[in-house]
Amino acid sequence: MLIFDSSKKQKVEFVSIVPNVVRIYVCGPTVYDNAHLGHARSAIAFDLLQRILEANGYEVIFVKNFTDIDDKIVKKSKEADKSVDEITATYTQSYLNDMESLGIRRPTLEPKATQNLEAIFKMIKTLLKNKKAYIAKNGDIYMKVKEDSKYGTLSNRINLESQISRIGENEFKEDIRDFALWKIFNKADDVAYDSEFGRGRPGWHIECSSMIEEHLAYKDKDYSIDIHAGGADLLFPHHENEASQSRCANNKELAKYWIHNGFVNVNGEKMSKSLGNSYFIKDALKIYDGEILRYYLLSMHYRAPINFSHNDIIQNKKRLDRLYRLKKRLNVEYNENILDTAFRDEFLGALNDDMNISIALSILDSMISNYNDLLDKNPKDLATKQKAISNIIFINQLLGIGEKDPIEYFHLGVDSDTKAYIEKKIKERKIARENKDYALSDRIRDELKAKNISLMDTKDGVVWEYSE
Ligand SMILES: [Zn+2]
Repeated sequence: MLIFDSSKKQKVEFVSIVPNVVRIYVCGPTVYDNAHLGHARSAIAFDLLQRILEANGYEVIFVKNFTDIDDKIVKKSKEADKSVDEITATYTQSYLNDMESLGIRRPTLEPKATQNLEAIFKMIKTLLKNKKAYIAKNGDIYMKVKEDSKYGTLSNRINLESQISRIGENEFKEDIRDFALWKIFNKADDVAYDSEFGRGRPGWHIECSSMIEEHLAYKDKDYSIDIHAGGADLLFPHHENEASQSRCANNKELAKYWIHNGFVNVNGEKMSKSLGNSYFIKDALKIYDGEILRYYLLSMHYRAPINFSHNDIIQNKKRLDRLYRLKKRLNVEYNENILDTAFRDEFLGALNDDMNISIALSILDSMISNYNDLLDKNPKDLATKQKAISNIIFINQLLGIGEKDPIEYFHLGVDSDTKAYIEKKIKERKIARENKDYALSDRIRDELKAKNISLMDTKDGVVWEYSE
């Protein structure tokens, strides 16, 4: 299996630290607001990675954290006049709901910063002891970047100083590159925790390093974990700083492989809160079913930028429709002994090449056409139907799509009033046909067609489909 390692800037062969087991850490959300499409994309990319690894026979231990200590959370709690705990509980649950709607499987473990303060203290103490960190005059604790000769090697930043934001620059730092491990309590209404370094709050980067060490890391291997993943915007400074802390505390590299997903653009601009064009997952889910949104965000290579577009979603849905149309033809039980191994090998082979989804989806399209042709020629062939259904189950395991009942799928996007109206029209049409009034029957069909509703007469009665 090949993956693109952001640190080496090339595709490399993936070899797990321990045979048949993969330990992955993904940086999770800071829970101060609803999750946006960037979060959805990152979650879908690494959910796909996990599914591919499992299809290759690996046991995957997947950890994704919640950052529930942060200046943004404190700010939000003041704005909303709610406690910090209320804010973090609300947005943690909201994130979990969004992930469920998108078919993202729950991680093995979801540690929270507030529940891992001891692990954070332990790592800060180690860094102080190793003289890789220092206590500044005001009581803050900073990482001493110049003591880490490998700093910058993960993100390959050459001219580091010019790229570090001067915002938040602190007169107590020895070097502009140094970053906070512990921020000392300084305001009466600030949120703070007691520690042996004084009352304060941990920096963001140290949370991840400490939680990895506490919950996921190998203690006796050359690397702490197999894969560290996250959005491309986290590569620098967040991941560079995580890598530095862990390297200096543990005397070994944090992750064997680093994987980053691309941005989601809205109207051609990188989506972020500060641009004011943020698109919450919740809002998108009001328009599109989670599976359709998932298929769309999945359909572009995980490292390429996505320019979020309604038209592209509709075009992609048409491809997903084809999968469900095939499924609809298959009324057979899955038989685990009747498989299309050639398809499975080819499909997984494409995904094993750095998650090449474009090739995988074109193999999927061809498979659908092929089985449709076979069923056109021989509509009752049981083995053909069983192979096709096993392919759909395999696709569902890997991509998390195709699980719905086809009738239910083709009713997506239709509200209950419209459904009742369609059922009424179907009854009227039935009566017209019984009365041999075919002109009226055709008129009803055409009227529904104009509303994107197609009627199909089957042996089990009339079924309808909505398609934009
Ligand atoms: Zn992180």
